[in-house]
Amino acid sequence: MHAGCPGNRGSGTVNRIRLTENAMSDRILINDMKAPLDLKRTAEYMHISEDSDFYDELAEAVEKANEVARPRAVLKWVDVDEIGDGYAVLDGVRFDSRVMADKLKGSRKVFFFAITAGDEVQNDGDIEDSMGVLKDMLTSQVLGAAYAEMMKYVRDTFGNQKIAFMTPGSLPDWNMQNNFALIGAIGGVKEDLGITMNPTGAMIPFQSGSGIIFADDTGYTNCSLCRNLDCIGRRVPFDESEYIRIFGEAPGDQKV
Ligand code: SF4
Repeated sequence: MHAGCPGNRGSGTVNRIRLTENAMSDRILINDMKAPLDLKRTAEYMHISEDSDFYDELAEAVEKANEVARPRAVLKWVDVDEIGDGYAVLDGVRFDSRVMADKLKGSRKVFFFAITAGDEVQNDGDIEDSMGVLKDMLTSQVLGAAYAEMMKYVRDTFGNQKIAFMTPGSLPDWNMQNNFALIGAIGGVKEDLGITMNPTGAMIPFQSGSGIIFADDTGYTNCSLCRNLDCIGRRVPFDESEYIRIFGEAPGDQKV
């Protein structure tokens, strides 16, 4: 699972929203996000039973994580300037992607977004991590909860049309390098969220994400076109016929 993918940790396709124009200022910072982890759900995700010796450590860690975690996101409401053969121009930025051109056909507005679980859980010295993976898994869960909260915010604030999101890095023709243009177009992401990028376009903190939220009636999720077939976060099966419809050929063996 790519770091920025919410995978099965959060809700990718969400209910109903109407993306009306002139409904908002074009940039929204959500820095007081309430996305607490649920102990039972976290234990299930980590395959830890209540009888396990580790359960008490987990319970303490979840409580502490909920005290310190500060997930946050920025949304930017932008124009779809042009859709062409295998590309889309959004907010003046051209993205060469057949998936995007296909999915945004007919859309006039979309949201850019950047989101992060932050590094507060990773850096907290009071969270005991005897297994060496607990903080990573908790941070991953925080990001999933933050995704669900961000989508709920959009749904609750702007109406009732179905929406979905796509993220760079998990789609065959929208790789991580697209983060540079996307994050640049959102602007202020480092200042507002503390997110930076390495030369490949991967975001730091590691459990951060970015992408586009768009109106969608089909129940689209990135996973349906992602060739990372053994990903533990996969939410829906790979859809080979849809892949062939968009890309004109069956996927090769190479993973994204
Ligand atoms: S299957 Fe692909 S899109 Fe889905 S969570 Fe895994 S890496 Fe992300």
